[in-house]
Amino acid sequence: MELRNIYTCFPGGKHKVLTLSYDDGKIADRRLVALFNEYGLKGTFNVNSGLVDRPFTNAYDERIPVSEYKELYKGHEVACHTVLHPTIARSPKEQMVLQVIEDRRKLEEALGYTVRGLAYPNGSFDDNVVDALKACGIRHARTVHSTLGFAMPSDYLRWNPTCSHKNEALERLSEEFINLHKTQYLYMMYVWGHSYEFEIDNNWHVIENFAKKVGNKDDIWYATNIEIVDYMEAASRVQVSVNGDFAYNPSAASVWLEVDKKHIELKPGVTTTL
Ligand SMILES: [Zn+2]
Repeated sequence: MELRNIYTCFPGGKHKVLTLSYDDGKIADRRLVALFNEYGLKGTFNVNSGLVDRPFTNAYDERIPVSEYKELYKGHEVACHTVLHPTIARSPKEQMVLQVIEDRRKLEEALGYTVRGLAYPNGSFDDNVVDALKACGIRHARTVHSTLGFAMPSDYLRWNPTCSHKNEALERLSEEFINLHKTQYLYMMYVWGHSYEFEIDNNWHVIENFAKKVGNKDDIWYATNIEIVDYMEAASRVQVSVNGDFAYNPSAASVWLEVDKKHIELKPGVTTTL
């Protein structure tokens, strides 16, 4: 037997993923989604189903109607941000569960797919909140702690992003990410924020420049948060023979392996020779 290095890759044999996460579902999401679509970027939009019909004080506060979610966010992920945006670690346990499961229920009703993601409102969470999310079937939840790095997360329910678009390091980090050609690890760049910040700060050029720079690249996988979670789960289920000469992919989606620098697609439900 000859030993070979066998690695998990992202779809298409890629080793870099870019993902975005925007909160609160306000009107400026329309312009942001259009920009993402133009440059092939994928995002997760975390929305509060219970705040949509409330009166708003200024134009930046107006929210996208729930009836518009399905069409507007097509190709992206809609995820929970709780019904009413409480600082949830301060809430009683029953409220933690209710704020999440009711948001999820309403969103699923509007979207027609299972909603399994969340961003912590006001960045608030603790171990009890994480337990509540698990009970509600939530698979990923974003914090507001920037890592300023490209490592894959170790815990998707305490998912720390690379940075906010407001971080002064955004330009340097996107430059580094584009020029990252090392393949020892899988690398992730994760940018988050609120679309109305571009209105308030009058700086749409920040995200437009970012999209132009990092968008439509052949070596980057553009994915929503849940696409990353689901793909990595499918990858973890792959069964590789001890000899490393074949692999069985029991999932319903393809998984890519790198075998001695060669990329191999493992089609769903079949055994593939490596
Ligand atoms: Zn929020």
